[in-house]
Amino acid sequence: MKSRFSGSSRLFSSLIFSGLVGLLYLGCAPKGHDHSEKPSPTASPTKENPPPKENTPPKKEGDETEQENPPPKKNVLLTDEPIKTPTPGTDSKISKPKRPKKPAPSPEPIFDAAIHPERIETKLGTAGKIRIAVEFARGGQPTSISNLKFESDSVKGAATAPAADSASERQMLTCEQNNSTLDVSARIANQYYRVMGQYQIYVVKFSAVCGHDYRLQFDEESKGGQVLSIVETIERAKGRLAGEVGLEFWNERININYPARSNYYALGTVNITRGNQYEAVAHEIGHAIYELGGVGAFGLGVGTQSSVGSKVHFMDQCYSEELAYSEGWATFFASWLYLNPSDPDAHLTTIQTRRSPIQIENVPGDVCKGPASEWRVASYFWRLYDQTTTDRIRPYSFKEIWSSLTGHEVLTVRQAAALIEAHLAPTTEGKAAFSGLWRKVFLTK
Ligand SMILES: [Zn+2]
Repeated sequence: MKSRFSGSSRLFSSLIFSGLVGLLYLGCAPKGHDHSEKPSPTASPTKENPPPKENTPPKKEGDETEQENPPPKKNVLLTDEPIKTPTPGTDSKISKPKRPKKPAPSPEPIFDAAIHPERIETKLGTAGKIRIAVEFARGGQPTSISNLKFESDSVKGAATAPAADSASERQMLTCEQNNSTLDVSARIANQYYRVMGQYQIYVVKFSAVCGHDYRLQFDEESKGGQVLSIVETIERAKGRLAGEVGLEFWNERININYPARSNYYALGTVNITRGNQYEAVAHEIGHAIYELGGVGAFGLGVGTQSSVGSKVHFMDQCYSEELAYSEGWATFFASWLYLNPSDPDAHLTTIQTRRSPIQIENVPGDVCKGPASEWRVASYFWRLYDQTTTDRIRPYSFKEIWSSLTGHEVLTVRQAAALIEAHLAPTTEGKAAFSGLWRKVFLTK
């Protein structure tokens, strides 16, 4: 079912959400925010890897590219500080936002930002072909990426297709004149997402000779390596979602801004400080998917007053139930993408908090109890999904959880649990199992 979050609803929900998450992350990320990590001391700024800068949109006439890093809006001020937990039954007081008209689609940025591999291995290949494999380093390990769509201006219209031996993770271009040199490039933009810095779309570029095979290698700390790690995460999300729930819901393009000053999602844009912190990237993409898929609403405690600037997003403390729901969903989404459901000690390691690693399977006992805990919300979803616990009568698929939630303007995990129980636990035995799971995760009734 298509939720009411599509179309015109999205901008306003984004505004609300941006007020919250934007401030949340602006306020806290530089001070050791949960989902963000400062570059390691070894990652000193270089020409290839400059220190994260906030995007300043170029002032061009007719440039309608949306604001990617909007200033805090005080009238939708929300906080990452522990907020008084609303008493049960007060959710209805949270005003449902009115949705203004959807803005016109933003045009493609005019300029590209070229990223070049640190190393290129080449060898003689097949006449009339250029085959390209791409790998980047993550956690020191070479990681292949096969989703880049290479093209060459010189052979416009030539067929581009994955090589027949897809195991080699190669892209193949056909070329007409053997031994001719071509400029080959892959733009990091498609109907689902685009990765940009300073309002320029990243493009992998190199020169290739027709009839040769190439292996492009990107270092972890280079801009290209960071961008490709982001691409891996969003392609993983796209692939997994396509397999579970289809991609019809993904009807607007997600912008990804890298490097940003902090990790947050606002106005259809995912802002990322470090591409290789892949679980944090997945968390922020999870917010975008939450919005596109209508997994929840954006009430999020609108009207809560607090000052900004001295806030730290402590994942072991309570927020509002509304904030905990959307944050917990995003953390569950990251877990779904990267953790093994058969791991009895599943935990996140690249969502950086002072509590890292974040054990998603077994929440430490000193974490805030109840449904205003992001950590416990994430764990609740995980324990519905994973293969190791006997919390419920069977493991539930991501699709079952998703289908129970989408389109219902869910505000809190209490509401989510009621929907999930209604959809997935029709029997008395099932209902008892769900109540037991709730008590076990939240340590409350
Ligand atoms: Zn978040």
